Amino acid sequence: MEFESILLPGISAQRPLVIAGPCSAETEEQVLATARELAGKGINVYRAGIWKPRTKPGGFEGVGTKGLGWLQQVKKETGMYVATEVATRSHVDEAVAHGIDMLWIGARTSANPFAVQEIADALKALAFEGPVLVKNPVNPDLDLWIGAIERIYNAGIRKIAAIHRGFSSYDKKLYRNLPQWHIPIELKRRLAGLPLLSDPSHIGGKRELIASLSQQAMDLNYDGLIIESHTDPDRAWSDKEQQVTPDVLSYILNLLVIRDTKQTTENLTELRQQIDRIDHELLAILAKRMRVSREIGQYKKEHNMPVLQTGRYDEILDRRVNGAREMGMDGAFMKTILEAIHEESIRQQIEVLNQ
Ligand code: PEP
Ligand code: MN
Repeated sequence: MEFESILLPGISAQRPLVIAGPCSAETEEQVLATARELAGKGINVYRAGIWKPRTKPGGFEGVGTKGLGWLQQVKKETGMYVATEVATRSHVDEAVAHGIDMLWIGARTSANPFAVQEIADALKALAFEGPVLVKNPVNPDLDLWIGAIERIYNAGIRKIAAIHRGFSSYDKKLYRNLPQWHIPIELKRRLAGLPLLSDPSHIGGKRELIASLSQQAMDLNYDGLIIESHTDPDRAWSDKEQQVTPDVLSYILNLLVIRDTKQTTENLTELRQQIDRIDHELLAILAKRMRVSREIGQYKKEHNMPVLQTGRYDEILDRRVNGAREMGMDGAFMKTILEAIHEESIRQQIEVLNQ
């Protein structure tokens, strides 16, 4: 897939592209007051949810079509581009008819191929050129995310970006949605050229986490941020804990350190060569370990012993995890590695057993 830039005319190419605005459009006054303040802070793209997918019935489900008129007003008054979420064919029809510049597909919708296809068909029928932003599905399924992007691409749209908003989990202690950074990083690797934005509001679920999550996204070379901002966050009708005032947003953005990604110094080249060599050694050591495992498998086969002996495995796990901690590594990290190695050892031994 070959993507085109989502930077509409007049938007700076400097990272980060920032999209900001309230979780939901609530009243005409709130939409316009927030937009004026954000425009005053140099924000170019304004977001507001018009139709809100709510976890439980009875929550605020959005103001609907009349809010689109308010967004038109924002465009006219401030010159900002406007963006909203679409989840059905009629949302697409209405949003495009009202001149909404960017559309995004929410996390609950991108988890549903029928819904994404319906949106893609509606966009194609209207020859909408984008940008369309595809949020990650609520569940940590990279193929499902890529599938949603492909459906939009197959509708002829090239101005596409992905939004990383984190993944649902039962455990909501620190984050509202777990970042699982390796998933968007793998997305970037698989779809080179696809712009990637971070949604620190929905990942963190708390105002206090927005600054550090935004910095982390910038350090991982994300292209932009979509952040919820409201003139009176405590009184927002949805997602109030995670919205910040335009003033605070501007403060957060000014604190961001944008590291230059273009220059690779000689030192970095040397260090990267070291990493290449070490990885090569790691592979060789792992291969050696597997050979020994296979010998053990051969022994077990000759003596009619079962492959899995859990007592021994538990002991190895404990000892290695402690060893890793002593060497300054995370115990959970070592456990993950050992579990993967153990799984492959077992597979190798079973192969020997069946030879
Ligand atoms: C939103 O952007 O307000 C929203 C509903 O987000 P998500 O789809 O990521 O939950
Ligand atoms: Mn929200």
